[in-house]
Amino acid sequence: MRFKTGLFILTGLSLAAAVYSEPGHVDSKTRPMQIELQVVRVFDPLLPVLSDQDLQQVLQSSREVIEHKLGRDVTLSFVDAGKVDLDAFFHSVSYQEDRVFKMIKHWRHRPELADQDPLLHSSRFRKTAIAFLKHYKIEKLQGFFPDQPIHNYNQAFAALHQTYNKKIQWLKQRTNNRGQLVWRQKPGQSYVHWLGLMHAQKKYDIVITNSLIVFDLMSEPYPHSIAKHAKVGGSSFSSPARMALGGRSLLVNIIEEYGQIEGVSKQRSIKRSLRNQMLGGFLLAHEFGHAFYLLPDFYDHPADCLMNSAMENMDALAGYRLLLNNNQPCKQCYPWVKSKRLVLHAEQSLAGQNYLQAGRLFEAAIRGVPSRIDGSRRHYIQGLREKAIAAYLQAGHNAEALRLESEK
Ligand SMILES: [Zn+2]
Ligand SMILES: [Zn+2]
Repeated sequence: MRFKTGLFILTGLSLAAAVYSEPGHVDSKTRPMQIELQVVRVFDPLLPVLSDQDLQQVLQSSREVIEHKLGRDVTLSFVDAGKVDLDAFFHSVSYQEDRVFKMIKHWRHRPELADQDPLLHSSRFRKTAIAFLKHYKIEKLQGFFPDQPIHNYNQAFAALHQTYNKKIQWLKQRTNNRGQLVWRQKPGQSYVHWLGLMHAQKKYDIVITNSLIVFDLMSEPYPHSIAKHAKVGGSSFSSPARMALGGRSLLVNIIEEYGQIEGVSKQRSIKRSLRNQMLGGFLLAHEFGHAFYLLPDFYDHPADCLMNSAMENMDALAGYRLLLNNNQPCKQCYPWVKSKRLVLHAEQSLAGQNYLQAGRLFEAAIRGVPSRIDGSRRHYIQGLREKAIAAYLQAGHNAEALRLESEK
């Protein structure tokens, strides 16, 4: 998750193709893959919406940033799948019966119960949250919660818990530009419901929404999200029925730019076109990096890296400008791009009925999957292994298929 935005034109970005490869190393060659993405706007009628022209500017900016920051493995085209009302969208998919929703709903905080929610006082939450917080150094956690002294993870948990309650209370009281309360206990205002719906849905690759989405998944209490607004600004999802992004999808939230909600939305005296470029180039392109290249958030990459999240809570415009300081891809992101490139090449080999080559390329891709990726690494590698086995069997190389089978 993160917040960002596109103005390559203003910075004189060269349109020469970015060569993204390791020095002294020749990559497997692929033709750019054509990808068509279905884009839907899902709108809460209480909040301002994104016009057709806004949408085109957002998408164009995202395409430019993706080409320059992630290489040119893909040629993106977008299909505007129209606007859908938030409630209608959640009624249109029977995700409540979906395996993923059934699994995660037990981790959902219910904002209507506030701090009376038993989940927040359970030992399973405490144990899971402390284990989660241990991914961060104490000094880092102190930075997220500056008002409370943090010397150990128990204190960090206490600060997280207290801050979360305060933020949720605050979010529930936000009003729109007509003074109406925005939070209405809608499924479309719950991150857990979004995760469930996006896993079950079969139609869309990109969702752009204005919904106030409460961050309510307590099995993954990201301290930077909680310290900010305890809401969701962007996300990538598992969507097995959508193959354009390899079984994934993404969400971009426009509430901070267009919501007109005091304390949440930004007051900016910039052109609407620049806001749209920011949304596409900073936020959408970043979520695309998660969804397609499986890049995780990084805290130690250069400031102009598309996946840099060290300044997670920085302003989107400032973040967008940082990104544009350098139109080259980030060298440290290369292993993820390389691994995905091998998969694309393998799929092209499959399409050309070159099965032995496809099997070898899938295997090479498996060996190159970095240790940390967005989503489940085990699940992803399992999928690649099955493809490699099928390709070897097609090629009549049964011994290689058996060898891979035994590695499962
Ligand atoms: Zn992110
Ligand atoms: Zn990077």
